[in-house]
Amino acid sequence: MAEEPQFPPLPDLGEILDRKDRFKPKKTTILKCNECKAKYPREFKAGDYVFKKVSDEKCKECNRSTTLIVEEIYSEWIDPKKEK
Ligand SMILES: [Zn+2]
Repeated sequence: MAEEPQFPPLPDLGEILDRKDRFKPKKTTILKCNECKAKYPREFKAGDYVFKKVSDEKCKECNRSTTLIVEEIYSEWIDPKKEK
């Protein structure tokens, strides 16, 4: 009686593709205020890059017109079905 060949488990590509189909990428920029040193996230805007100086926006925390530095940019997958 022949044994069935055993293959190492493959990553479940179907699941990954489903995920890509369902989830929407969302990019977030972390800004740091030069004035009050607050760090907060805001929606990624085209042209944002790490260490960029943003001078045309007000700090969300202290509301002063200062220089905000882009500290970090990250993207995540959002499940649109979970968003209200
Ligand atoms: Zn501030």
